[in-house]
Amino acid sequence: MNRPADRLRIAMQKSGRLSDPARNLLKQAGFQFRSDKDQLFCYGEDCAIDLVLVRDDDIPQLIAENVCDLGIVGRNVLQEKALELRGSAHCGLQELMPLAFGGCRLSLAVPNSQLWQNAADLEGQRIATSYPELLADFLQQRGIRADIVALKGSVEIAVKLGKADAICDLVSSGATLVANGLKETEIILQSEAVLACQNTPFGDSRDGLLANFIARIEGVMKVQGSKLIICQTGKCDLASVLKLLPDAVAPTISPVWGMDDTLNIQALCQSAVTWQRLEAMKLAGARGLMVLPVEKLLA
Ligand code: ATP
Ligand code: ZN
Repeated sequence: MNRPADRLRIAMQKSGRLSDPARNLLKQAGFQFRSDKDQLFCYGEDCAIDLVLVRDDDIPQLIAENVCDLGIVGRNVLQEKALELRGSAHCGLQELMPLAFGGCRLSLAVPNSQLWQNAADLEGQRIATSYPELLADFLQQRGIRADIVALKGSVEIAVKLGKADAICDLVSSGATLVANGLKETEIILQSEAVLACQNTPFGDSRDGLLANFIARIEGVMKVQGSKLIICQTGKCDLASVLKLLPDAVAPTISPVWGMDDTLNIQALCQSAVTWQRLEAMKLAGARGLMVLPVEKLLA
């Protein structure tokens, strides 16, 4: 099915760990949507972008089949589907950019009591997972032969139930593993939410819409946590004050009218601007320190 060429359709998780952060990201980027009655389709009010709200597992397939143009989905789900579709007519999924939320890892875990040297210890074992393709790829690259027990859910109790000797599952804090008497032994994939699409250009006006969309998302991500510091300093103290701004992107230094020995500093800082840092800057000779939040940035 071909998509209309004048609007971008983005697939997102309807409800789950990725839905609120994804909605917030789009809101911060200035996109507003009107939901339909069943709230599965959201129409972009002032932009040529629409949302389709679905289960996260369906997102890569919707992109692969051209039903949606883009998706916001975990790298774990995207890569699993990409491996599954390898060699088929619908291959060619790609990660456009990481989105810095939904962080987790796909890891191997074994019972606490089991000694562990490396992944070769899994030779001949049964490993339960909801990610059979990623696990098979990992094992194949290391020449390990093991039985993959594919499960849709409740992977963490597969060992207790006697269905498997080890598991390969998503981990964030590790509390679920501990609660089930398991220990994390090796990371297979570091994951986070990503923007996904097909790896060929649309060849119509959606290419321009996508470029604008990415520029806005990048702008939001760049300013997340960024602060603008403005202050004044004597010329002789400039070097000491700048030393306390190692994360500043090309700070602007300008003269101050009527004060020959004073300079104005304006710096966009990308790491935390704490009170301790401001106090250190004051000690180094900075005055009139001001810290401002950054709302938008278009590079
Ligand atoms: P759906 O109903 O959409 O299928 P789900 O239960 O499969 O939902 P969630 O649990 O909401 O999905 O997880 C969605 C994504 O969040 C995962 O695919 C993963 O990328 C990310 N994630 C982050 N931390 C975790 C975690 N601790 N456990 C599982 N997923 C996590
Ligand atoms: Zn899911």
